[in-house]
Amino acid sequence: MAGIKTVMVVGAGQMGSGIAQVAAQAGYSVIMQDVQEAYVARGIQTITTSLARLVKKGVLTDEQSAAALARIQPVTDVTAGAQADMVIEAAIEQMPIKKEIFRKLDAVTPAHAILATNTSSLSITDLAACTKRPERVIGMHFMNPVPVMKLVEMIRGLQTSDEVYREVEQLAISFGKTPVAVRDFPGFISNRVLMPMINEAIYCLYEGVAEPTAIDEIMKLGMNHPMGPLQLADFIGLDTCLYIMEVLFDGFADSKYRPCPLLRKYVEAGWLGKKSGRGFYEYAQA
Ligand code: NAD
Repeated sequence: MAGIKTVMVVGAGQMGSGIAQVAAQAGYSVIMQDVQEAYVARGIQTITTSLARLVKKGVLTDEQSAAALARIQPVTDVTAGAQADMVIEAAIEQMPIKKEIFRKLDAVTPAHAILATNTSSLSITDLAACTKRPERVIGMHFMNPVPVMKLVEMIRGLQTSDEVYREVEQLAISFGKTPVAVRDFPGFISNRVLMPMINEAIYCLYEGVAEPTAIDEIMKLGMNHPMGPLQLADFIGLDTCLYIMEVLFDGFADSKYRPCPLLRKYVEAGWLGKKSGRGFYEYAQA
């Protein structure tokens, strides 16, 4: 990439650490920021483990792994964005927090810097409008786990410029990913298609049509899905599934997106899926 040399990743969680890793592997200087040193350290640990796995598999040499790690600068101060040509925000999925981050980034990053968000569902147009550079704001929706999954859903806000779109498309390709363009509507394509399917599977359970294992088995064997919808919901997190259904329901004001009451009840009970030890299935470790 001609113009982009330094990529800043905001949020060093599950997605942010994966994005920092693929950017570093692609040869970019990476600044990885989170609010506390412990969170950045946890992100570095995740990357170290993931790179070690790639060395073990013979995908990377020890030298390549060490060089990638050395390209990542861990920071807690967002003003480090003064060095960035490109920022990819992967903090938690809450609009007020993302807006606060984007306002700060708009103030500290150089005028040429592109500000991208990895949001799964929030409006790019709305987020862009809180900056003075809405034409340089874009959605870059990576899939989990980032080092493995090829797709990057590229979301153009209403004001995103063609030039910025092309630059970010090239960046995604340089990360070894396949960018696919969509416009800015609730849930984009990935979650607009996936979540109603998961929600419908939950309705099937709610209405007693079949047991969870039967629902998942039917979708795996019959539709060739690698994982059934209820198991997938447990992996994504039931709170996240509910949140995305609410974004679709509110955004389209259409009853076809109404979240299943059983999904809401599970979330109220704290049954959030794999991460809490219980969802549609039980998991040994939380
Ligand atoms: P996560 O909880 O693992 O990580 C979020 C990180 O953001 C945490 O480390 C947290 O400390 C940090 N953070 C919070 N406020 C911050 C701030 N003000 N500045 C900097 N860092 C801050 O979450 P995740 O799963 O990595 O998700 C991150 C984003 O990626 C969300 O927008 C989510 O919707 C999106 N996403 C998630 C997935 C997925 O499968 N988990 C897939 C695609 C997109």
